[in-house]
This record gives sequence, C-alpha cells and structure tokens, in this order.
Amino acid sequence: MTGNSDTREAFRTCPLCEATCGLKITLSGDRVVRIVGDREDVFSRGFYCPKGAALGALHDDPDRLRRPLVRRGASFVEVSWADAFAEVDQGLVPIMERHGRDAVAVFSGNPCAHTLSGSLYMRPLVRALKTRNIFTASTTDQMPRHVSAGLMYGAAGLMPVPDLDRTHYLVMMGANPLVSGGSLCTAPGFSTRLKAIKDRGGKVVVLDPAETRTARAASEHHRIRPGTDPWLLLAMARTLFDEGLVSLGRLADFTAGLEVIEETVRRFSPERAADRCGIPSETIRRLAREAAAAPSAAFYGRIGVHAAPFGTLNAWLADLLCVLTGNLDRPGGLMFPRPGHIGRPSGPSGRAWQPGRWHSRVKGLPEVIGEFPVATMADEIETPGGGQVRALVTVAGNPVASAPNAARLDRALSGLDFTVSVDFYLNETTRHAKVILPPPGPLAASHYDVALYNTAVRNVANYSPPVLPRNDDHPDKWEIMLKLALIASGQGPDADPQALDDFIITQAVQAAVAEPGGPLAGRDPGEILDALAGRRGPERQIDLMFRNGLYGDGFGRNPDGLSLDKLEAHPHGLDLGPMKPVLPELLRTTSGRIQLAPQWIMNDLPRLEAGALLDTLVLVGRRHIRSCNSWMHNIQTLIQGPERCTLLVHPEDAARLGLSAGGRARISSRVGVVEAPVEIGEELMPGVVSLPHGWGHDAPGLRMSVAGDRPGVNSNILTDESVDPLSGNAVLNGIPVTVEAVG
Ligand code: SF4
Repeated sequence: MTGNSDTREAFRTCPLCEATCGLKITLSGDRVVRIVGDREDVFSRGFYCPKGAALGALHDDPDRLRRPLVRRGASFVEVSWADAFAEVDQGLVPIMERHGRDAVAVFSGNPCAHTLSGSLYMRPLVRALKTRNIFTASTTDQMPRHVSAGLMYGAAGLMPVPDLDRTHYLVMMGANPLVSGGSLCTAPGFSTRLKAIKDRGGKVVVLDPAETRTARAASEHHRIRPGTDPWLLLAMARTLFDEGLVSLGRLADFTAGLEVIEETVRRFSPERAADRCGIPSETIRRLAREAAAAPSAAFYGRIGVHAAPFGTLNAWLADLLCVLTGNLDRPGGLMFPRPGHIGRPSGPSGRAWQPGRWHSRVKGLPEVIGEFPVATMADEIETPGGGQVRALVTVAGNPVASAPNAARLDRALSGLDFTVSVDFYLNETTRHAKVILPPPGPLAASHYDVALYNTAVRNVANYSPPVLPRNDDHPDKWEIMLKLALIASGQGPDADPQALDDFIITQAVQAAVAEPGGPLAGRDPGEILDALAGRRGPERQIDLMFRNGLYGDGFGRNPDGLSLDKLEAHPHGLDLGPMKPVLPELLRTTSGRIQLAPQWIMNDLPRLEAGALLDTLVLVGRRHIRSCNSWMHNIQTLIQGPERCTLLVHPEDAARLGLSAGGRARISSRVGVVEAPVEIGEELMPGVVSLPHGWGHDAPGLRMSVAGDRPGVNSNILTDESVDPLSGNAVLNGIPVTVEAVG
C-alpha cells in the first residue's frame, strides 16, 4: 500500500468478472474513497469498468450480510458463528445418517471461480460430503468447452484460448466480450485488443443473431439463426477439404481422425448449411478461405453457442477449424495458457478422459467431470426414492436465478429438509436456507485468479492481499468451508479447521516430493513444510503451487523463480510472457495425439441433421456491462438509468405482434410466463427476441432493498430443463416462445 497520511492506496485484482482488471483503490481509514483502473497492472494497463469502480459500494452495502443467519419460523435471526455451525451439524448430519450421502446435494456458483478460497477449498468440502449430487454453474455456462477439451486433448481443463494479441483473423460466435468482459478468454481491455487486430491489417468476424456492441466493433457481422452454428462451421470445414485448404502443419505428427472428419463433413455442404443458418453459402466459403489464408486465425465461441442445443458440437468445431487450418498451438491461433501457478506437464494419461462414468438417478443424464447438470437438480429433489436429495449446500450460488425452469426449482428448494448457504446476500436461493454463513466482504479477502488465469491470453501472475481487515471473530471463507467439511465428515461443529488445513498442505507436499521428475522430487517434506510455515490457508497452498510450478523457485533450486514472497513485492503483477507452443508435450490423451473425431461427439451429428428448423419466435439472452449475472443489482450506481430488464424485439416483429416501445409484453414458453417492458431495436434479427438473465428480485423475504425496487423478471422462468446431451449444459438460448401485448 502507498499514499499520504490522510489517504492510502491499495492495488488489487477485481474479482467480479473474468477480465481480472487491476484496480487502484484509494482509502481513507477503512473507507473507500475512489476506485480506478491500475495503469501499472501488467495485464489490464488501467482498463476497468463500472462494476470494478463499484467494488467499494459492494463491500459497504448495508444489505450485505456480516453475521450468520439462522431461520426461526418465517424469519431469520443473527446468531454467533458457533451457534450457526452447531445448527448446520444438527441439520445436515442426521439427514446423511438416515438417508445416505447422496441425500445432500451441493451447488457452487460462478463466483467460486473468482475467489481464492472458492477455487481451492470447494474440493475438500465436496470430498467430505461424499455425494454424487454435485451441481455447479458450469452446466449453465461452459461445460461444452470442458467436454470438447477432455475428448480432444485428454483433460477437461486443457482449453485453448485465442491468442488475441497476435492473431490476424478472429471469428467470434455467440460472444459479446465488450460487454461481458470476456469469458474463457481472460483479456482485460478486450475492445483495445480487437481494435489492434484491425489496426495490424487483420479481421474480426462476429456471428451472432444480434448486432451486439462487439458486433459493431468487428470488421464484419453476420446474423445467424440461433442454434444453427454447427451447420455453418461444418460447412466451413467441408470447404477447406473441397478446396485443398486443409493444412495441419506440425500438428499432423500428433493428430488422429483426419480421415473420419473428411468423410463426415461431406454431408454438410455450404448450400445445405445456408438453408439452416441463414448465411449465404458463398459467405460461408469465403470465411473458410479467409481463415485458411490468414497468417494466423482463431475461432472462439461463448455462452450464445455453449448454452445452446448443440453446445459441445460448437465447442469442438471451433477447435477443429483451428486444427484444420494449422492454427492450434501456434502464435495468433488458439493456444494453451501456462499461468504462474501452473505445474509442469505430466504427459499422456493412462486412462482416457470420458464423461458418463455414472448417471443421474432420475433422468439418467451422464456426469461430466463429476457433476450432474443443474437442469436436473429439481428432478433429484422432487422425485421420491433412494438417493432423493433432501438437503442442499450452496456456495456463492443463486441457482433459482441462474438455472433453467426457475419457478420449479424455487418450489423444489422450498421443500428441502435443510439448506445451508455460504453467501453474503439473502437472495432468491438463500431465502430457502436454514443457515446462511456470510464470507467476509470482497475487500477483506486476498485474491489470486487460480481459475481465470488458466484461460488468460497472456501468462501472468498477480496476487492481492486483503485491502481491509476482517472483523475479529469473522472466519475467512476458507475456514467456513473447512468447518462445513469437518461437519460433513462427522467431526462435529467444534472441530478445528486449522488442523484440517495442515492435513491438506501436508498431503500436497507429500504428493509434490513423490512426483517422479518433479521439481521437488526426493526432497524432504518436512523441509518444504517448514519453508511454508509462515503462511496458512490459501496463501500457503498457492505458495506451494508457485514454488513447485513451471516458473517456481523450487524452494531454493531456482532462486530467481516465482514465489508468493516475490509476487507480494510486485503489487501490479508479473508478466510471464506470451503463450508458447506446448503440444504435443501437454496432451493427456492415451494416444498422445489430438483426437479430432471423438466418438462421443460424432454420435451427436445425426441429432443435428434430424432437427427441424424452428418457425416460431425464439428467445435468447443478452448481457449488460453493469450486471454480473444475478448479482450487483443491489448497487445504486449500477442499477440507475433506463430500465434494463426489457424484452428486445425487432421492429418487424413488434409491428406484427402489436407491441409498442415502453408497453408491456407477455412472454410464454412451454414451462412459464413472464411480463416485461418492450424495447424495440434493429439490433436483433427478426424472429428472435431477447431478455437479459439474472433478474427477478421480487421474491418474498429477500434482503436486497435496492434490487427490490427495480426487480425485473427472471428469464429462467421461461427456460425448460433441456440440455445439450453431450455436456449436460442447459439450453438457455433459442427457447421457443410466444409474445403478446399486454393491455
Ligand atoms: S471488466 Fe470485469 S474485472 Fe474488469 S473492472 Fe469490470 S468487472 Fe472488474
């Protein structure tokens, strides 16, 4: 921290979205005076957005919970931490004993990936629960990307990202990073990076039903019918084969399945694709030729194509096109980040990565990376029988707002015997809890992006200590999570989380010294533990990760290497350089090759071909820069201004349906009905309407007074439990709806 006697400055990475912007926070005492972008941050260079500037308001929000709450009858009362944990023990353990471990489900929300404690301590909690009913926000978001990565490269976490800063040709599908901040492509200041592509003579192509802010910044934008992207991408692949443009380059030495792909894409001519996706066949051919001819090219899809009926096909095809044009694992193409905490490559795995090792009880849906689709959580709660879910643990998640068929899930949660939520808001989901355990405020937590740097377009490391102190008796979030783990494993509410933390780090050190060829191979575990002894919790874990990692100091072997001490001395972060080629060394497939045509994926192509073209109005989502999924709506500076939760309609559809700007529309789907104000705009293509997600803050019993004044409607009342069958990801875009004017 720096500053004069009245004020001081602190630097920390914004934890709110995937952009990981560095912030400069000016404080007077414990009061935040101002937050702006940190111009010296090695990655964001001063970029920030209104949400980051509101981090102080979030920390100071009077509605943010500071003490544990326990339900007594119809209301909540504040209790001590000891009493709260005792309530959890009394509520959770008897259910496990009587009905088995699967009777307790766990849901972790998106913010878990944005906090150090959430990233590192969910695993011990989930392990202690020993349940198969594991749900996360991933199945409303990016699970198709994990499936594609697991099957093609052998590990679900091996997700390549566009090398934005060097590419000459970028195709973006269903992504609006200028508003979302970017996702599965951590790149603060996305707009500057896109402009730089054009400035160096490159091209940015956006495929989206809507003319989003990103589309307006692109070189060209094509409106594509929702849900038809695989047709276009397969036809581009066909063009590459037809015109002799397939060129794998050095990838040819470690790629399998090219003949299968050539045979398969013959069925997808540009003309057939044009009928489905609405983009002319000659444009499809041109895009394929341009991508092949560009000095480098990258394909990137996000929520619009992942939370869609063929999410996994879309994720796979983006990577496939990069392989076919020789643009995987080369500068300017799709590349694999190697951030500061990453370990050394461990080489091919002895076992093939595979989804569907077990299946959900009610609908028989396959697990993916150990999770079931959140779209089936209500089934598991409402359907009687052995393994029925009777209790729930939520961590930083609001599935009633974010998961499909929200009204049904809301009813299902109200019927549970017990729910405990780690959350600092009394929101749509936590209102069903028996116990709410609030973590410390965002400025009282340390920060390092364990998850998000894994998809960053540059290799970086940036650690932020807490800016403000915690209240004396307020446990840190990792201590709360370990306390829950101890209760779940039967050790009672008084067990010591510090002892469990010691056990966890000891196991990690023992694994590190036992790793053949690893940087700590053969070292004395006691010596390593002694070197880590000055730290606890997540700091101790990431210090081990840094020092045992790719760039690490190896506990003395490489004195200039990375450690937490070193990062603490660099409050603006350390730049570890651009992404570098890492294949085939990083591949984890049993063959040691990139699998271009995994059977799990190929099996889905007949479903694509059999699907009829919808001739009804369809609903898609949209984002706003002042929203952060279902939260940040309780901050006055972010909520003010024109109404944002509106139904956006094309003028032709508005005229046909008798809708007028500012009037109200009733939107009906197979499962629900909502009403919203109408906004008319030419951004959308005719036949498509749009409602933003994360709203609907008018449920009884919430403690979000600002959000409650402008609640909006929950778009997930309209989405049903349909999933992409390969990944279990919810289908949140392309929902058939009818719309009529109200009044
Ligand atoms: S873009 Fe994301 S990370 Fe950057 S300031 Fe805004 S919310 Fe924070």
